[in-house]
Amino acid sequence: MTRDSAEFERRHTLVGKLGRETARLAARRPACKAPPRAMVSFTFDDAPATAATFAGARLEAAGFRGTYFACGGYMDGMDGPLAPYADWSAVRALAAQGHEIACHTHGHRNCAVIGPAEAVAETARNREAFEQHGLSAPTTFAYPFGDLSAGAKAALAPHFNLLRATHAGLMSKGSDLNQAPAVAIEGAAAARTGITWLERAMAEGAWLILYTHDVAEAPSPYGCTPAAFEAVVGKVRELGLEVVTMAEGAARLTA
Ligand SMILES: [Zn+2]
Repeated sequence: MTRDSAEFERRHTLVGKLGRETARLAARRPACKAPPRAMVSFTFDDAPATAATFAGARLEAAGFRGTYFACGGYMDGMDGPLAPYADWSAVRALAAQGHEIACHTHGHRNCAVIGPAEAVAETARNREAFEQHGLSAPTTFAYPFGDLSAGAKAALAPHFNLLRATHAGLMSKGSDLNQAPAVAIEGAAAARTGITWLERAMAEGAWLILYTHDVAEAPSPYGCTPAAFEAVVGKVRELGLEVVTMAEGAARLTA
């Protein structure tokens, strides 16, 4: 299987776009409660090494914890576009500090492309790898590439308390826990985008889920710089938003 296989990219076609939008109407699990107060989550897809080291330490210094959507395949040394990734011991260290280690597909395969049964098998493989390496069973999931189909969503939903996508938005009462929105802090607009959405979450008393990948001086197009990350963390402190992991946030909207 090669890197340019359709399994390893987001579907950029009209069919892909319509598939993601159609899925938003299917297999919904509406949140039964609004968050008690405005809150924010920091999430890191694929757990690149810099997200674990720099960003993890930065969050801890502020008294915050993040959520890392990790792939067993990457932690086992599988190559990927955002390498190097955190290895098992780095991820265990994050867990020991109170960060949430959450589920992606084991080989970072696209759930919409591989289909519902294989998507479930991929997450089972990841869960098993977590267990073998001393991590707790993950309770939340992020769709790799933010891509999904209605069928994959319906098949995966029973296995997690929350499943995160990548369309921008805020979570509150009635929002779909099976296809939760998230705002990217990436590229040149990372800090500005993050700050705008933090203000919006504060004004609406909603839950904002942020996501990025690597946090480095020369980040990938899917990551951000330490300065941008710092600006977003600073704004969270200034606004006094509560910081929750994905698992904690899901519990607030359902308990
Ligand atoms: Zn990913």
